[in-house]
Amino acid sequence: MKEISFQKLLNFINKDIEAQDESKTLAILIRSSSLILAAATLAMSIGVIAGGHYALSCIFLLLMAVFCLIFYLTYHGSIFRTLVVLNAGVMCLMIGATTLFSWISGFRPYVYFIILVYFFYTKTSLEKQLAAVGGNILILFVLAFLFYGREEGPLGNPTYIFLINLITQPALFMAVGASFASKFARTEYKLYQYNLQLKKLAGSDPLTGLMNRRNMLDIIGELLPKMARGDEMLSVAIGDIDFFKKVNDSRGHDCGDYVLTELSKLFESFMETDNKGYVARWGGEEFLFVFTSGNGDNAFVELEDLRNRVEKMVLEFAGHEFKITMTFGLEEHTVDWDIDETIKRADEKLYIGKESGRNKVVY
Ligand code: GH3
Ligand code: MG
Ligand code: MG
Repeated sequence: MKEISFQKLLNFINKDIEAQDESKTLAILIRSSSLILAAATLAMSIGVIAGGHYALSCIFLLLMAVFCLIFYLTYHGSIFRTLVVLNAGVMCLMIGATTLFSWISGFRPYVYFIILVYFFYTKTSLEKQLAAVGGNILILFVLAFLFYGREEGPLGNPTYIFLINLITQPALFMAVGASFASKFARTEYKLYQYNLQLKKLAGSDPLTGLMNRRNMLDIIGELLPKMARGDEMLSVAIGDIDFFKKVNDSRGHDCGDYVLTELSKLFESFMETDNKGYVARWGGEEFLFVFTSGNGDNAFVELEDLRNRVEKMVLEFAGHEFKITMTFGLEEHTVDWDIDETIKRADEKLYIGKESGRNKVVY
């Protein structure tokens, strides 16, 4: 029950403002801080009443009413007007309390708080923000000039004021921090997600979801130094679907796309298992495999296994079942020549495989 009503209060505070073009974050910040300030001034007036100063307590009750009005205004007024009223309320609190209590009762941080809030109001120019901030600082200076060194005002320097400020001021700065932090963290997180998405889109083939040629070349670029250090071995294979044109011609282009997608799923899970290496869509119906675990002989065994799986795979499109085969050309990379040469050699071996009957791995 308690949790539900607390949630209701949070929802109410988070409720959007009426004007769409106004800052919701700022409205919520002013809303929560006006609540904090209303509670603080109520506590102060209770303290003053308890001290027997009934007439003076009206000042704090009046301030409490102002902060309640500000809370109300965040739902109904313009943000600028609300901010100005908040500024006026905080100024009155600082001037009134410093006069009645003392300079050392510590009411200055309320002005520091309002200065921070002004920088949230981004609908105005920096000059106007600085002017508002400057005005506040000026009043603070005047107040310091008048009251600095005066230890006690007519209401003394009671402990309860110290305690109320001790709680209220960190709460106000927490409200600013939470508004800032959550806003920037959310934006930053969104940007991070967009970046990831962009990176993925830029590096992957839209039909099959496999990485594209450019992404694969980047990965090879990262692998080569490891290989040069002797940390990793590298073998490259190019696989090409046999008589793929026939699939397109006899079953339609959509069926061709379906075959490419199904094969890509098989390749991806095959290469991921035991971290064999990477696969990319190299061209139309050609795929490039990079084996990083083991030498060329190991890659040959793996590719034979893959070729077998492709041969046995039953494809079904528009109610018809069919099978396809693939031919692979494999080359182990060495530091004696660059990677383009290895890819070229793998391609030449693929050609040999096609010439000599297809459905095989040439190494
Ligand atoms: P081979 O055994 O010699 O490789 O014969 P093939 O018919 O597979 O070879 P060819 O290079 O003549 O044909 C490749 C075909 O792949 C031609 C092209 O229309 C098709 N293709 C390329 N990209 C795509 C694609 O994204 N979708 C579909 N459906 N077909 C594609
Ligand atoms: Mg081809
Ligand atoms: Mg082909």
